[in-house]
Amino acid sequence: MTALSYAPGLAPDGPWATYLDQIERVRPYLGHLERWVETLKRPKRCLVVDIPIEMDDGSVSHFEGFRVQHNLSRGPGKGGVRYHPDVTLEEVMALAAWMTIKNAAVNLPYGGAKGGVRCDPARLSMKELERVTRRYTSEIGIVIGPMQDIPAPDVNTNAQVMAWMMDTYSMNVGATATGVVTGKPIALGGSLGRVKATGRGVFVIGREAARRLKLPLEGARVAVQGFGNVGASAAELYAAHGARVVAVQDASGTVFAPQGLDVRALIAHAEANGGVAGCPGADAIDAESFWQVESDVLIPAALEGVLTAERARHLRTKMVLEGANGPTLPEADLILRDRGITVVPDVIANAGGVTVSYFEWVQDFSSFFWTEEEINARLDKILIGAFARIWADAERHAIPLRTAAFVVACERVLSARELRGLYP
Ligand code: GLU
Repeated sequence: MTALSYAPGLAPDGPWATYLDQIERVRPYLGHLERWVETLKRPKRCLVVDIPIEMDDGSVSHFEGFRVQHNLSRGPGKGGVRYHPDVTLEEVMALAAWMTIKNAAVNLPYGGAKGGVRCDPARLSMKELERVTRRYTSEIGIVIGPMQDIPAPDVNTNAQVMAWMMDTYSMNVGATATGVVTGKPIALGGSLGRVKATGRGVFVIGREAARRLKLPLEGARVAVQGFGNVGASAAELYAAHGARVVAVQDASGTVFAPQGLDVRALIAHAEANGGVAGCPGADAIDAESFWQVESDVLIPAALEGVLTAERARHLRTKMVLEGANGPTLPEADLILRDRGITVVPDVIANAGGVTVSYFEWVQDFSSFFWTEEEINARLDKILIGAFARIWADAERHAIPLRTAAFVVACERVLSARELRGLYP
C-alpha cells in the first residue's frame, strides 16, 4: 500500500504527502513500536467550521475555518492558528502533525494541533478581523480549552488576535481562562520573551549546528526568506552575533547586499513600507535569484513547500535552517543530503516558539511569572539539550537530522500510545 492510500483525494505533492513521506522514512528505526505507526498517519480529529460575519459595509461574508487535533497521546493539543488566503484542511492537517512531532522532539507535554482560517487579513478591517476571530473561536470552542487544546499565533496572527480568542472563550465559559491560548499580550497573562522566542530558537539551534559543522558564526553569510516575526528576529540575532545577512526575501520583493544588510534599519523600513522592497543600501534582485545567492546559512521562514527539487539542485549554501514549517519537499531533502548540505529540520529549528508557549501556559496555571532572563535561559537549555540528542542519534545511525528528530519524537508518541492502550 502506498503512503497516499491513507489520504484519498489529497494532492500527491501537498504538505500532507510531504509529512507522510517523512513518517515512512522513520519506520525502519521504530522497532516494536512500528506496530502503532498508523496512528501518526491520520489525524485524530478534524473540525471544519463556517464563519459568517457582517462586513463593515453591511454585507455578510462566509469564511472557512479549521482546527485539527492530530494526536493527543502525550497531552493536550497545542499549535498555532494561521490566517491566509491559501489555508486548506490538508495544510492544517500537516501543520498539526508537525506540531505532534515538534512537541515530542522537544519533550513538551503536549500532543499536536493546528488551526486556520482561509481569509486575507490584509483585506479586512480591524473590526472585521475581530469578528472573524471571535466567531472562529466560538465555533472551535467545542474542542479547545486550557486542558484540551491550546491555540497560539502563527502566520498573520498575533497577540491581539490571541487576546480576542481568550476573551471569547472566557465569555462563553463564564470565567477568565488565560490558559486557553498562548502568545497573549503580557497584560493578559502573556509571557516575556514569547514574541521573539521562535526567532531566538532558530538562531540558537543554527549556532549549535554551525559549531558542530565547524562553520564560524563571525562573518557567516545568512539569507532569509520571510521577514515576519520569525525571519526578522532570527536575522536580528545573527547580525548581532557578527554574521552578515546578505539577502532577504518577503512578499514585497528580494533585497541583496553582499557586504551585509543593516537588519535593524531593514526592520524599520519593512514596518514603515509594508515590506523589505526598496530598502536603501541594498540591490533589488528577482525572486528566483534569491535561491542562488551564495550563503553559509539559508533560513526559509515563510511558508511550506518552497524548497523544491529544482531549487535544491542549485542552492549555494552550507546549511538550510528551517524557520518555517515544512519548507523542504521530500525530493529536495534527498538532493540536499546527496549534495552534503545540512538540513536542520523545522521540528527542532523553530521549536522555540512553542517552548515559550509552554512556559506561558505553566505561568498562567501557577499565576507566578518568570523574568525574561529565566525564560531565555530555560529556553536555550531545552533546545540545546534536544538538539544534542538529535545530532547524536543522526550520527549514530548515519541518518539525516530530520529523520533523527522524527525517530526521537515518534518513539515518545508511540510509547505513550502503547502504554495507554486502546479504548474502549
Ligand atoms: N505557530 C508556532 C509553531 O508553528 C507556535 C505554536 C505554539 O506556540 O503553540 O510552532
